[in-house]
Amino acid sequence: MEKITIAIDGYSSTGKSTIAKQLAKVLGYIYVDTGAMYRAVTLYAIRNGFISLDKNDIEGLVTALPKVKLKFVYNDSLGFSEMYLNDENVEGEIRTMEVSKLVSKVATIEEVRKKLVKIQKAMGLEKGIVMDGRDIGTVVFPDAELKIFMTASPEKRATRRYKELLDKGQDVNYEEVLKNVEHRDHIDTHREISPLMQAEDAIIFDNSDMGLEEQFSRVLDFSKRVIDKQKKDVR
Ligand code: C5P
Repeated sequence: MEKITIAIDGYSSTGKSTIAKQLAKVLGYIYVDTGAMYRAVTLYAIRNGFISLDKNDIEGLVTALPKVKLKFVYNDSLGFSEMYLNDENVEGEIRTMEVSKLVSKVATIEEVRKKLVKIQKAMGLEKGIVMDGRDIGTVVFPDAELKIFMTASPEKRATRRYKELLDKGQDVNYEEVLKNVEHRDHIDTHREISPLMQAEDAIIFDNSDMGLEEQFSRVLDFSKRVIDKQKKDVR
């Protein structure tokens, strides 16, 4: 079967990773959550005192970057890969509000983006990959056969994220989550390097009023159409 590259970009908490994960499973593709990589670098920066709400030692972080080793390790029982920072499983720690508040700042740093984009491009060399993030269709895989740009109202996204965090037992309030979603949207769309924007050839997918099942069946349908077309083109 002809394998393709699927790029899923969009605003924070639009459910990109849920859809991307499910899609990869059904297609037998590799799933890569690039947000987890930016979050892991942020966790490293926090732990080593380079970044906090009132401190920005960008130079220190950039100098230390070669010491940051990232890898995804597949967890059989969960059915997806988890993020490892210097051989430690950080999947839980990178999803806290503390990291969410600082990650977009770290994601503006040119050297951080260069390092992560290089790893991401290498992971996609053999296609058969579903990658989600902010710059996948524009920078990482501009030639991806299928690009989806996910969006939903900030309130809908904050509500979903709030429920998710509560389910994980985190102590959060809705206003704080909404503020964080809006704050990250602002930084992500206004940064100088690789800002969040839809690729010209992306399918815009607004899921404000769509349940998970409907979203998935639509996205699977887009994918099958592109894969079938590839097969015909090869013949
Ligand atoms: O996808 P997630 O919300 O976990 O991403 C966390 C943050 O990482 C985003 O708000 C964004 O600032 C940054 N990011 C990015 N480019 C990507 C993926 C994530 O700048 N490809």
